[in-house]
Amino acid sequence: MGKALRELYDLVVVGGGPAGAVAALRAARQKAAVLVVEKEKFPRADRHVDWLGPAGTALCKECGIGVKKAGAAAFKGVRLHSWDLKRNTFVDDPELRGWLVERSVFDAALLKQATTAGANALHGVAVRDLNLAEDRVVLHLSNGREVAGRVMLIADGVDSPTGQMANLASAAWMRDVPQCLFVQYETKESATRMDVAVGASRTGQLATIVRSGKIVNLTIIMRSATIPIEQQFSAFCNSALKDGVLPEGIPAEPRRRLSPGGIALDMDTHVGKRCLLIGNAGGFVAAFSNEGIYPAMRSGWIAADAALQALQADVLQDELASFGVAWRRELADYLRMPNTDLSLLVPLIFNNEQMSRRVARAFLLGQPF
Ligand SMILES: Cc1cc2nc3c(=O)[nH]c(=O)nc-3n(C[C@H](O)[C@H](O)[C@H](O)COP(=O)(O)OP(=O)(O)OC[C@H]3O[C@@H](n4cnc5c(N)ncnc54)[C@H](O)[C@@H]3O)c2cc1C
Repeated sequence: MGKALRELYDLVVVGGGPAGAVAALRAARQKAAVLVVEKEKFPRADRHVDWLGPAGTALCKECGIGVKKAGAAAFKGVRLHSWDLKRNTFVDDPELRGWLVERSVFDAALLKQATTAGANALHGVAVRDLNLAEDRVVLHLSNGREVAGRVMLIADGVDSPTGQMANLASAAWMRDVPQCLFVQYETKESATRMDVAVGASRTGQLATIVRSGKIVNLTIIMRSATIPIEQQFSAFCNSALKDGVLPEGIPAEPRRRLSPGGIALDMDTHVGKRCLLIGNAGGFVAAFSNEGIYPAMRSGWIAADAALQALQADVLQDELASFGVAWRRELADYLRMPNTDLSLLVPLIFNNEQMSRRVARAFLLGQPF
């Protein structure tokens, strides 16, 4: 923490991931008094590698972050596979570009950008409880202190304990939130590439393999689980190892998470008393690709604008509600599952260049099929 704490901030942001950091940056640039409360000490110990597409790269630029400087590796094009890995096709065009980012470094760089713009940040401090008063939100912190903001942005991830404290149902409370299993490991050969396997069944299987240097990251997501995801995961790994799509060295035990693809669209509201839900907490994740970094950042950006407008308004709460309209206008199409029957489409991908390009663009650019 750089500066002494104020008694009252314009904005307190809970969570310093991509959603919280960008919200804080956007608000600080407009001279608001902003405090971020982040329970971890950055950079985090977990060195997870994720992909960032063109929209995220462009937004990073607007935030003043050079992703390359933040340790990212560039990838070009995507290799699409059938779920049984028997067919594949490489799709490339000048727009299908992105970066493989190490999240601990990337998230720390984003939050640093926010503090450089004037936001204050508490690291290694969690919100334990809060009080929604008439003129402010008072947060009780794990270090025994209290801080207050006129508006609170809740960016503490999919389970969002802070959302619960504020009487707001977060993404994790919705029905049918997709499950994801993932592993990250080191292998001997270096590579920079992205492979995506798309299932053609109604269970909505998707596997993303990201390779950056010697790091390999496999994530499998299912929208509904008639066959348990663990079973699907091990069957997929076995064939991927056999076919060489995954290099040797995969650990036996994957980790499990919720991945709230498209869930923002199903939520009644992201607006509570003096607070807004953003990022994963608000289900801002693209439904087809499960890309979450860019939607989290963009939701933070839009929420910061809505909150600052609300602070100028006669009736703060009415203006805060404008967040619902604003994010739907800018993000809803990006988050929505393309309105296409994958069981009809997927078999065509491998014989039809136009079709494979449409699927790759839907994945990486959030475009409709
Ligand atoms: C396995 C997996 C792979 C993924 N791969 C990709 C990918 O390749 N590309 C992509 O774009 N997206 C990917 N995603 C999605 C992406 O990681 C998320 O959508 C994104 O991190 C959401 O950002 P956020 O800021 O909303 O939340 P988070 O990144 O979860 O940040 C929340 C922050 O809040 C803090 N916090 C939590 N509780 C408290 C508290 N009580 N007080 C204070 N702070 C608190 C946490 O420490 C954390 O720093 C992946 C997700 C998973 C699960």
